[in-house]
Amino acid sequence: MFQALLIKYAEIAIKGKNRYLFEDALVAGMRRALADVEGSFHVYKTQGRVHVELGEGSDYDGAVEALQKVFGINAICPVLVLEDEGFNRLSDVVCDYIRQIYPEGNKTFKVNARRARKNYPLGSMEINARLGGKILEAFPDMRVDVHSPQVRINIEIREKIYVYSISIPGAGGMPVGTGGHAMMLLSGGIDSPVAGYMIAKRGVVLDAVYFHAPPYTSERAKQKVVDLAEIVARYAGQIRLHVVNFTEIQKYIYEKCPHDELTIIMRRYMMRIAEKIALEYDCQALVTGESIGQVASQTMQSLLVTNEVCHIPVFRPLIGFDKQEIIELSEKIGTYETSILPFEDCCTIWVARHPVTRPNPGIIRMHEENLKEEIDRMFETAVTSREIIMTGK
Ligand code: ATP
Ligand code: MG
Repeated sequence: MFQALLIKYAEIAIKGKNRYLFEDALVAGMRRALADVEGSFHVYKTQGRVHVELGEGSDYDGAVEALQKVFGINAICPVLVLEDEGFNRLSDVVCDYIRQIYPEGNKTFKVNARRARKNYPLGSMEINARLGGKILEAFPDMRVDVHSPQVRINIEIREKIYVYSISIPGAGGMPVGTGGHAMMLLSGGIDSPVAGYMIAKRGVVLDAVYFHAPPYTSERAKQKVVDLAEIVARYAGQIRLHVVNFTEIQKYIYEKCPHDELTIIMRRYMMRIAEKIALEYDCQALVTGESIGQVASQTMQSLLVTNEVCHIPVFRPLIGFDKQEIIELSEKIGTYETSILPFEDCCTIWVARHPVTRPNPGIIRMHEENLKEEIDRMFETAVTSREIIMTGK
């Protein structure tokens, strides 16, 4: 029934003279999202608005679903588009529309007309009053409420006439590409894909790094991470996934350092490698899925010691979230089912029975000295031998 979608965005509308950058990024994100949907879609902007015109026979539900993954959209309003064939025709169409959308016919409503084309014979107040009258005649159980109506019937008179009243919630946030570039540490777990999603939501383009430990972690474990990157990329646009072979470093740490410090030292090397790759791509931050106290390596003291090796900011958007809240988000964004597949993670292979929960930075640094003979070479090899997989489109 609908021929167009009107896209509402709130936050980006206030960005002053940079507004066009935000709108252009939004339009690009929308085109990307619609590329796979059946049909033809014309996405364009007019003053302060973005519109989508649906070609004949296009998949309306598919388009709405795809656009609900585009950051920067607050609401999607399905629009009825009609030629201007006089006021009577307009009021017939509006009454038909109400009959279909609100079949109970008992809402409180308000007509909200905007006359963008000034040669239309009626003023907006006149349209409101006359159309309101017609609706009351046709639907005896509808009532006008100008202050807080259940339904706002918006009428926009341009070259054509646009009618809309429904508002479907969008993903919010900022268009991807307007907020810089970050490197996320993406494991196969529940948390890190959610963390990436949250940062992308603020308009940030993502790269991802995954530490793989073959043969201790399987190809399937790696595939799971690729699949997670693909899911996050539905929101975040393309994600370049760097798969780093971490086996040699992990084994070396295991050989040379106390086992209860293995995880924390390993985490420091993950951060160092992630930062090294991040800087190659001019990323301004790292992103992890850490949350205070979730495991031994995420106590405040452990976070302090992990963070110590980084020079660029580390964003931890889940820092104050409970596991249950993270799970709910991961279900909402569609990563949960993949995250819970039972493949081993490189961190879980050699974990000590009693990992330190209050690591002392001085002692950790001292034990890292045990690695000095080989670690630089191993570090270099890990970075340069990484595999790069493009995900998303
Ligand atoms: P997740 O559910 O994200 O795996 P977790 O609760 O298992 O998190 P940890 O294993 O302590 O937590 O990891 C903390 C963070 O470190 C992860 O959220 C992720 O950002 C990063 N990380 C852990 N393991 C890896 C890995 N193998 N590759 C890339 N990043 C990792
Ligand atoms: Mg993990």
